[in-house]
Amino acid sequence: MMKYATIHADDAAIPGLIAVIEERRGWWSRLGTDLFLCVANDGWPGLARALQDAGHVLGVQGSVRQGALWLVVQKGRAFQREHPRARVLLDKGRYLVAELTKAQAERMAARGEGCFQVMALPRNAAVFQTHAPRRARAMPPAAPALVAGVQDEVFRQAITHLVSYRTRHSTSADYAQAAAWAQAQFQALGLAARTVPITVGGGTSANVIATKPGLGPDAGQVLVVGHLDSVNHPGGPDAPAPGADDNASGSAGVLTLAAAAAAHDFAHDLTFILFGGEEQGLHGSTQYVAGLEGEARARIRAVLNMDMIGSVNAQPPAVLLEGAALSQPLIDRLAEAAGAFTDLDVQVSLQPFGSDHMPFLDAGIPAVLTIEGTDGANDAIHTANDLLDRIDMGYALQILRMNAGWLAQEAGLAEPALPRPDAPAAGCGNAGPAAFDQAVLAAQNQLAGHYQALLAQYARLDRDGLLAPGDLVERQSLWALCDHLRSDCG
Ligand SMILES: [Zn+2]
Repeated sequence: MMKYATIHADDAAIPGLIAVIEERRGWWSRLGTDLFLCVANDGWPGLARALQDAGHVLGVQGSVRQGALWLVVQKGRAFQREHPRARVLLDKGRYLVAELTKAQAERMAARGEGCFQVMALPRNAAVFQTHAPRRARAMPPAAPALVAGVQDEVFRQAITHLVSYRTRHSTSADYAQAAAWAQAQFQALGLAARTVPITVGGGTSANVIATKPGLGPDAGQVLVVGHLDSVNHPGGPDAPAPGADDNASGSAGVLTLAAAAAAHDFAHDLTFILFGGEEQGLHGSTQYVAGLEGEARARIRAVLNMDMIGSVNAQPPAVLLEGAALSQPLIDRLAEAAGAFTDLDVQVSLQPFGSDHMPFLDAGIPAVLTIEGTDGANDAIHTANDLLDRIDMGYALQILRMNAGWLAQEAGLAEPALPRPDAPAAGCGNAGPAAFDQAVLAAQNQLAGHYQALLAQYARLDRDGLLAPGDLVERQSLWALCDHLRSDCG
């Protein structure tokens, strides 16, 4: 047997804590703001004393069999629902430290059902890290205009519509209807959109793909994706599967970002994709990646996946950025955008699992999943109870603002040209005044975006109890200015 313990620790305390553990021949695994530590029985008294002397407070502690520690990554509560008697030593929602025999773990890992994954618990490494929001270095000057174009109403209408289908099971007639609706939504934004059939087991489903060409000389491609299908595991294929969080939230997110981007020019091509067959094993994204020619594959600069962005599972609210080592630059820029445009904590994991970013990562294409932060989990997913009451619209919009700020940078958002009001109309016709009105609107959007970023900073100060009376007055007047510009500011 060995001893294990958990310790709650913030960023600043972690290095000192790790030094004490390693000095005493223990090992650790970091899960957000918790360290899981382990040591041989005879090393325990010395380590426990050293930790207490250094002022650390031990959380849960106990004994565990040698070689029986495993990391579980799960969707919702899939693992705990299927294995209610398994001993969970640390529960961080999407991530669990569980005690399993090697045979149990291997059996579970081999089954590969796609709803959870069992793997070795990383030693002296992080499963995921949590950071308080960081200040952004530099965003493109036009980024706030794109962020301000993320409209509450667009998201709300899209998610409400998607949940209104009885099911969006990949091979159902309802799915085909939802896909046709989504295609029409893209087309109404002026984007070229098509529905591409895919196979799912013995049946058929579809991906919906919309494109917006970039204006740059060597345009690459940036993909914004999410899965449109839903599932009801206990009820089977014919049971109601509203899939509000999983994944009407991400699908509505893709449509909302498309709507925000439609009014702008970018250097790179934008491709928006709603995949089918995700819940049956990532079929839509796997077939999409398999169908890419070498050149098309090489043009992809980045893939942003949204899967479950509506349920608040951590306090303070956080967003989880999940990718592989090759996703790190994307993750860094997303974290910066979160700092600039939201008051969310940022969690980062390089243990990617279980969604449409995987086939891209497997093909060596930089991809990242943006998903609701973890500590708890939304236990309603994959059931008839995954309804809108689980969705916090304001929270989802924060994730979308982060993603819009990121997209502005990654896809090379062009700054709007500002023609002078008295300038003669360019070319033929009388385009001058209309172009001027458009430029004013763009400038107003940009200003509203800056206000929004400032309000996010105020919200963060407020949360940390750092708002002085003078700040409150400034915040009030900022709100008033914002109201004046846009109804949805802040
Ligand atoms: Zn999902």
